[in-house]
Amino acid sequence: MNLNKLRSLFKRDTDPSAHSANPSAMSPELLEAAALLRDAEKIAVLTGAGVSAESGIATFRSKVNGVWTAFDPAEVATPAAFKRKPLKVLGWHQSMRDICENAAPNPGHYAIAALQKLFPEVIVLTQNIDGLHQRAGSKFVLELHGDLFRMKGFCDPELHAQERPVHCPVCKGCTRPREQWNPEFREAIVEFTAIPSDAVPCCPHCGGPLRPDVVWFDEPLDPYVLDAAWNIADGCDVLLVVGASLQVQPVAGIPWRAAYKGVKVIEINPEPAEATGFWATRVGLPGAVALPALVEQVCKMKAGG
Ligand code: NAD
Repeated sequence: MNLNKLRSLFKRDTDPSAHSANPSAMSPELLEAAALLRDAEKIAVLTGAGVSAESGIATFRSKVNGVWTAFDPAEVATPAAFKRKPLKVLGWHQSMRDICENAAPNPGHYAIAALQKLFPEVIVLTQNIDGLHQRAGSKFVLELHGDLFRMKGFCDPELHAQERPVHCPVCKGCTRPREQWNPEFREAIVEFTAIPSDAVPCCPHCGGPLRPDVVWFDEPLDPYVLDAAWNIADGCDVLLVVGASLQVQPVAGIPWRAAYKGVKVIEINPEPAEATGFWATRVGLPGAVALPALVEQVCKMKAGG
């Protein structure tokens, strides 16, 4: 695998001046979005890879620099690939870690964090595994697809078909719901700051093989995390959907169901998702442009301007 090729995909213009709150971003749709937000109390923000695009982290499906146009997911992001060539899979994830670690939150991430000052409840539901929302200051972040910077036990789906997807197959420390995991075990597995390049890391508790704690292809989402996401989206007043293509279930269904239940859904994405007709409004701009302008406008409206 050519890791330089992977790195080159992420070299994008990260000039901060390109993302400052820009008056030309103030479209009628953005004003409409601000008006929808103004009187809301509970805000949920569902984000996809697009929210991190301006941080220099490529989306997976972009036709220009998407990761999957250059890499076959079957080779680097499936349980079968890990069984076949664990070091190759781990090497790819370590390169992704390097890229995410060297990236910085962009004005879109900061604007989402700033919503916390304007509304009593703001919860971020993210498909991203880069940690940039937390680094920007968002306090309540539900990671739907895991966290690239955590490891967990590898569960071979052929040997452990009946087990929960998240557990160490040897010591079974995690067959219980997340809340009941042995804290000693959890701390032990998160202490890996870098993935070793010459050997598969093992659970210090039992010696079982460890893998990145992210959701790969051919894997289900953590049912507890998914349940929480459904509840948060259904129970909010406004759901902002930023930079998510909504092509993959079950996350793709979250805004649909919320909209059906009466939640105002606002999409921010330069390219519309297929369900656009169901949304309350849609802002066709990059997140790093639209979100700071939106927050500024909501501030003005709340101040009576
Ligand atoms: P996707 O690649 O399928 O879609 C990205 C979406 O972002 C597209 O709809 C695109 O139009 C939009 N977009 C592109 N630039 C944008 C911008 N500047 N502002 C707003 N929107 C923009 O990604 P996905 O739907 O998020 O799903 C792919 C999966 O890949 C995710 O679940 C995630 O786990 C993983 N992923 C994560 C990262 C990350 O952590 N940063 C990066 C790539 C992929």
